[in-house]
Amino acid sequence: MLRNPDEFFGGWLYLYLVDMELSEFTRAAVLSRDSKFLRALTVTLLIAQCLLLPSAHAAALGDDIGFSRAGVARKLLQQSLSGCLSSSGARLVFPGDSSYDSARGHVFNHRYLYNPAAFVFATTTAHVQRAVQCAVQLNVGIAPRSGGHSYEDYSLGGRDGVIVVDLEGMNSVSYDSGSKIATVGGGTRLGPLKLALWKQGKVTIPAGTCPSVGVGGHSLGGGWGFVSRKWGLMADSLVSVELVTANGTVVTASSSQNSDLLFALKGAGANSFGIVTKFFFKTYDVSKNVTFFQYNYGKTEQAQTLRAYQRWGVSASADVSASLFHNPTGDNFIWGIYLGPKSNLRTVLKTFFDNAPATPSATTEIESDYITSVLINAGFKQTDPIDTLNLQNYVYESRTFKSKSIFVKGSGWSEQGIQAYIDALGKGPTANTYMIFDLFGGSGSFINSVASGSTGFVHRDSLFSIQMFTYWNDRPQDATADLNWIQGIWNTVRPYSSGEAYQNYIDSDMPLSAYYASNLDRLKTVKRKWDPSNIFNFPKSIPLN
Ligand SMILES: Cc1cc2nc3c(=O)[nH]c(=O)nc-3n(C[C@H](O)[C@H](O)[C@H](O)COP(=O)(O)OP(=O)(O)OC[C@H]3O[C@@H](n4cnc5c(N)ncnc54)[C@H](O)[C@@H]3O)c2cc1C
Repeated sequence: MLRNPDEFFGGWLYLYLVDMELSEFTRAAVLSRDSKFLRALTVTLLIAQCLLLPSAHAAALGDDIGFSRAGVARKLLQQSLSGCLSSSGARLVFPGDSSYDSARGHVFNHRYLYNPAAFVFATTTAHVQRAVQCAVQLNVGIAPRSGGHSYEDYSLGGRDGVIVVDLEGMNSVSYDSGSKIATVGGGTRLGPLKLALWKQGKVTIPAGTCPSVGVGGHSLGGGWGFVSRKWGLMADSLVSVELVTANGTVVTASSSQNSDLLFALKGAGANSFGIVTKFFFKTYDVSKNVTFFQYNYGKTEQAQTLRAYQRWGVSASADVSASLFHNPTGDNFIWGIYLGPKSNLRTVLKTFFDNAPATPSATTEIESDYITSVLINAGFKQTDPIDTLNLQNYVYESRTFKSKSIFVKGSGWSEQGIQAYIDALGKGPTANTYMIFDLFGGSGSFINSVASGSTGFVHRDSLFSIQMFTYWNDRPQDATADLNWIQGIWNTVRPYSSGEAYQNYIDSDMPLSAYYASNLDRLKTVKRKWDPSNIFNFPKSIPLN
C-alpha cells in the first residue's frame, strides 16, 4: 500500500480520509500538511485502528488478506455517528445491524435502495434536532423520511452514506374544532390522517388517494387528490409548520413568522430548507354524502374518452375531481369523486357524456359518506371497516419502477397530439405501464385560483398533469424496454404539453426549472438564508445558486 515513506502523511492519510469520506476541510488540511492537525489526526487514526480494529490493522500491513480500507472507514464513521446520535435516546440502526435491511427497504421503490450510514427513528423534535446537529458536526448528509414514497428513493438520501431521519413515530393527529386547524406529526400517513380527521370532526384536508403516502413529502411537494379542485392541494391548506433548521434550532413558519419559509415549503419543501416535524393545516367539512364514480370504455375508444375528458375538464364544476387511466393493453376508464348526491352526478358530468363513447363497458356510481369514498379510492371494498385505512407503519409490497410526468395547459392536446399519444401508448411493452391524467384545472378549479408566485408550487395554469409509470419488479430483463418506452412516450407528448413536471412525481432526469419555473430564483434566495451551507440536499433539492 505504501511504497514511498515520504508519502506517509500526504498519501496514506489522504487515501484513508478519502475512504472515510471526511470533510473537504479535513482533506485540505492533510494536503496542506498542517502539522498540528495531522499529528492529532494520525494519533486518532492509529488508536482507532489498533484498539478498535486490530485485525484490520494487521491486514493493512499485508494488503492481501481481504482488508478493506473502505470497510474500516465505514466502521469509524459509524462509531462517530453512534457516539454523536446516541445521546438523543432515539432508536438507531446502523449497517450490519439485523434490522438494517428492513429499515432500508421501508420505501416504495426498490429500484435504488441506497445504503444510509444510519437510521434515526425519531419520536420527538429533539431527536430530529440531534440528528441535524450530528450531520453538521460529522459532515454527513441527512434525509428525512415521512412515508417513503419518493419515486427516486430520495428519502434514503438519493446517494449512499446519509443519516435517514425516519419520522414514522411522529404521527399524532389532533383536530381543534374551534379553529378548524389540524395538527399533524411529520411522519403521518394519509390514510391514518384522513381517518383521524373523520373520527374527530368529519373534516378533511385535500390530499392524494394512496393511504400509505406520507404527509411529509406529499404536502411539501403539492399534494393532489380527489377534492383538490374544490379546496386546493394539500400544500394550499398548510397554515404553518414547526421546522428544524440547518443550525438545529426549531422555528415556526407561517404567514406572520418566517413567511419566506412558508412560501418555499408550500411546494418546494422536500428536504431543502429543514425538516418539518409538525404541520398545521386548515380543514374542510365533509359531513355530507359524496359520490364515487368510475366509467370503463373499450381499447379502441381511448382517443375518444380522452377527447371527452378534455372537453368536460375545461369547464368542469369544482365539486368534481377526476382522473383518466390508460394502458397499452387497452384499459380505459375515468374515475373520481363528486361532492354531492348521486342524483346530480350525471348533470355535473354532462359534457363528458355528450362526447364520450355511447355506452361504458362498466359503470360504478356509489353514494356514501366521505370516509367510505376514501376507502374505495384506496382500493378497498365499500364494506371494509374504515379502520382498514390505519396504515401507519405499513410495509410496502416491493416495486421496481420509473415514473415521469408532464403538465398540459390550455384546453388540452390537439387532435394531432392525441393521435401521436395513442400510437405511442399502443407500443407499450407490457401491462405494467400506464398513464394517469389528473385533472388540475378547468374554470372552477381552486388549484388554478392561486397565483403561481404566491407559493412554491408554480403550476397554476394547467388543465391536467400526466403521470407515466412503468414497473418491472422481479423481471429485470424488461427494465430496458420499459425505460425506453416511458422516455419515448414522454418525448412524443412533449410538443403538445408544457415543459413543466410535477415535483411529487420526482424524476432524476428532469431539470429543476421544470419543477419550479419562475419561482426558482426566489426559492434559491430562501435557501441561501435558511441553509447557507446546503446541509439539506439531494439530487433535486433547491440549490444555493
Ligand atoms: C403509490 C403512490 C401513490 C401516490 N399518489 C399520489 C396522489 O394521489 N397525489 C399526489 O399528488 N401524489 C401522489 N404520489 C406521489 C407522492 O405525493 C410523493 O411520492 C411524495 O413525495 C411522497 O411523500 P412521502 O412522505 O411518502 O415520501 P418520502 O419518500 O418520505 O419523502 C419524499 C421527499 O420529501 C422529503 N421529506 C419527507 N418528509 C419530510 C419532512 N418532514 N420535512 C422535509 N422534507 C421531507 C424526503 O426527504 C424526500 O426527499 C403517490 C406516490 C405513490 C408511490
